[in-house]
Amino acid sequence: MTGENQYVSLTPQQEVALDSQAVPQMIQQHGGPHPDRRLQALIDQIGWRIVRTNPEIIETHPWDFEFSLLVDPQKVNAFALPGGQTFITDALFSQLNEVQIAGVIGHEIAHVVA
Ligand SMILES: [Zn+2]
Repeated sequence: MTGENQYVSLTPQQEVALDSQAVPQMIQQHGGPHPDRRLQALIDQIGWRIVRTNPEIIETHPWDFEFSLLVDPQKVNAFALPGGQTFITDALFSQLNEVQIAGVIGHEIAHVVA
């Protein structure tokens, strides 16, 4: 998509393994998991709905998707690790409606897939 070709030598399984090493630090850097489980449930619902309605994502790639709302009230951000771990900070989440959140999560899923 950028017009550049870059060979990535990691398999999806290796990417998933790398994620599990990086996740605890990423969560800690952003204040930990959000304590409101209803808001976390909303993130799960949106993320899995995007994945489920695009079956080619799961059929062709063994990524281990997980969607996490982080407590960070200052850093407006969302990001994803190569194996499918996807995060959004409360600083961003709290400014968005559900459709906008879906746009952000979909963007992050695209980073994982592409
Ligand atoms: Zn991006």
